[in-house]
Amino acid sequence: MITIALSKGRIFEETLPLLRTAGIEVLEDPEKSRKLILATNQPEVRVLVVRATDVPTYVQYGGADLGITGKDTLLEHGTQGLVSPLDLQIAKCRISVAVRSDFDYASAVRQGSRLRVATKYVAIAREFFATKGVHVDLIKLYGSMELAPLTGLADAIVDLVSTGNTLKANHLVEVEHIMDISSRLVVNQAALKLKQAPVRAIIDAFAKALAK
Ligand code: AMP
Repeated sequence: MITIALSKGRIFEETLPLLRTAGIEVLEDPEKSRKLILATNQPEVRVLVVRATDVPTYVQYGGADLGITGKDTLLEHGTQGLVSPLDLQIAKCRISVAVRSDFDYASAVRQGSRLRVATKYVAIAREFFATKGVHVDLIKLYGSMELAPLTGLADAIVDLVSTGNTLKANHLVEVEHIMDISSRLVVNQAALKLKQAPVRAIIDAFAKALAK
């Protein structure tokens, strides 16, 4: 059995065409079904529906052989026990620093002020500000990060930005582009050896679809 961990939403939708190129059709829609294990047209392949942040954990510990996860999630989780052979170029966005439009970020950085930064992406934010030599107090949040600068909880946020509409709607402006984000295929290191033929077939089909 080959088990693939996917999260609902954008990653799931954008992965379906790639799976199709590998001859795999998921037989149920996770938005309509409450099932967490979805069958495919191939009796030996199944899909697990997991939270986006749990995909690397399932694959690392062998609960799934393969998974698809954002680079952001992978950097936060770490890559132990995982092989990441492909950038799938899906669910593209960027991770940025944003502040209230009336906050003078450049001056705060120039003056060496200690910044309070709220984010779900603590590891990425810590690394980014350490490299820049900016002192920060990081505040971990799990969602609605845009609220933090508006309520005085933080001076800045580190969050994913796609169109920029969410920032704009909350009177926030992007002041640093930390990195581009897209989704990666991750593979359990042991599965790559023990289930080499079927796992390789999926990796190769994805690679071929990307090359088109
Ligand atoms: P936008 O308004 O298009 O800039 O989208 C920003 C909101 O969507 C933020 O709350 C982000 O956390 C979320 N978001 C944007 N792109 C992605 C992505 N590729 N994966 C997950 N969340 C995203």
